[in-house]
Amino acid sequence: MTDWDILYASRMRSVIASDIRERMKLLDASEIIHLGGGLPDPAIFPYGALAASSAAIWADPARARTALQYAPSEGHAPLRKWIAERMTGEGTPCTADNILITNGSQQGLDFIAKLMLAPGDKAMVEIPSFIGALRAFDAYQPHYIGLPQDSAHWDAKALGGAKFCYVGPDFRNPTGTTMTLGERETLLDLADATGMALIEDGCYEALRYDGAPLPSLLKLATERHGNIEKAPVLYTGTFSKTIAPSLRVGWIAGPAYVIRKLVLIKQASDLATSALNQMLLLDVVQTALDDTIAQACLTYRDRRDSMVDALREAMPPGVTFTRPEGGLYIWAELPGEMDATLFAQRALTEHRVSIVGGAAFYPAGTGAIPGRTGSFRLSFSMIDADRAREGVMRLGELARQMTLESA
Ligand code: PMP
Repeated sequence: MTDWDILYASRMRSVIASDIRERMKLLDASEIIHLGGGLPDPAIFPYGALAASSAAIWADPARARTALQYAPSEGHAPLRKWIAERMTGEGTPCTADNILITNGSQQGLDFIAKLMLAPGDKAMVEIPSFIGALRAFDAYQPHYIGLPQDSAHWDAKALGGAKFCYVGPDFRNPTGTTMTLGERETLLDLADATGMALIEDGCYEALRYDGAPLPSLLKLATERHGNIEKAPVLYTGTFSKTIAPSLRVGWIAGPAYVIRKLVLIKQASDLATSALNQMLLLDVVQTALDDTIAQACLTYRDRRDSMVDALREAMPPGVTFTRPEGGLYIWAELPGEMDATLFAQRALTEHRVSIVGGAAFYPAGTGAIPGRTGSFRLSFSMIDADRAREGVMRLGELARQMTLESA
């Protein structure tokens, strides 16, 4: 009998199944109220625009041939150009040479880690951080350094030596919080002082429900250094939350010198992103992107408000939670020593509500951090107000029960 476990490369020891992906397998269990995963609501996807684009591609033999052929590894040239023009219009002057199309931004994060991390290299990440990024980085066996939540501790001496710092400035997954303009500037100072790169995850940037938009790190760095080629930032973008995740189209934006190196990784990994999906997407962003984003923002804003109202009503004193200005997530912290992993388990088994215990979002080896054991993530993206309220009420009941038990 082959013992597969001894045949795996040692780096796979640090690669473990995601709690959320495991939970997603429960998605059909209709009695469970899912407040865990952050899928975009399929009611918002632009079906009409996609159908029209698809029909137009098949009706034109030249376009149909391109759609079914291998695309260039860099991506479908007109889509790269469109993204570069949009970013330029938003204040980050760049060209198609600064854009690599990836299979979702998840692939972009993997490629950046593959490009930059050798075993034992220091990778700085926000704590807590997006699970998918941590899992992608884990495979390259970095030594993690946690970027403290409080920017008063962002000190070049204490935090030096990392190859990069990974951050999600807008409506972070998992906390829903947003980096202030001052924090963005401080982070750029830190990058300039230490020579490390910044990996900016722009996944939720377009989903803002209140407040004024803040400039991306890439935009600030391009202004500061006069040119994107000198910016110490790689930005990962995606159409997953604005058009549809199944198309798997994302991008990396950054200095052309680095993009050319990433293209070599793309070639070795999967040759290219689907030409058909990139062509569909280009048609749809030109006709329906802004309307789809507007619709998504209306829907998610209402859901955020309902969930925040329900939390205010249901949670016992001592439970705190964020009110995100955008994105899909709320982060809650339980009082005292209450353990959120146990809370999440009991929520599922005793109250039929699925949430994600916060521990999953902390990288290995970064030690004891406030909130590590007592926090959990909720998502309001896929659930109507009544069902979300019911779920939150059940969580409130459990929090009360556990408070009594620990008294
Ligand atoms: N970054 C963040 C912060 C995310 O939450 C996600 C997915 N939920 C991704 C990146 C990856 O998304 P995709 O690969 O679909 O672009």
